[in-house]
Amino acid sequence: MEQTLSIIKPDAVAKNVVGKILSRFEDAGLRIAATKKIQLSQADAEAFYAIHAERPFFKDLVEFMISGPVVVTVLEGDSAMSKNRDLMGATNPAEAEAGTIRADFAESIDANAVHGSDSVENAVNEISFFFAQREIN
Ligand code: GDP
Repeated sequence: MEQTLSIIKPDAVAKNVVGKILSRFEDAGLRIAATKKIQLSQADAEAFYAIHAERPFFKDLVEFMISGPVVVTVLEGDSAMSKNRDLMGATNPAEAEAGTIRADFAESIDANAVHGSDSVENAVNEISFFFAQREIN
């Protein structure tokens, strides 16, 4: 069964919509195999987003991701990675399709409510970044 990593970012956690977002996953047929609320350190955020280290928005992205707690979740189901990406909507909420998580809960391209793995290979690495095998059930 395919797995993917979701992060509910600090903006959505602060808005108290964690339950609403997790329900979107469940309503779409994805199962929550693991979940926890954590405060990322600067080193955590820099390591997680290392692929974007050279991008002009990297510093803002790291600062935003450590501005408050996040909820990290392993989602499981058929085509979990692409299903989650469809539920999320476009990176820029202004361009996100109506009914997507980002269209409904995100404010800006920085504060865009959720992260989701963008390939099955990245999902495997991102899941092991946050979770021990015994935490995934
Ligand atoms: P995602 O997979 O849809 O989250 O998008 P990316 O992997 O391309 O980018 C990672 C995160 O960096 C996005 O979710 C945004 O929060 C942020 N980001 C991406 N592009 C930009 C940009 O052009 N400007 C700013 N400020 N942030 C960006």
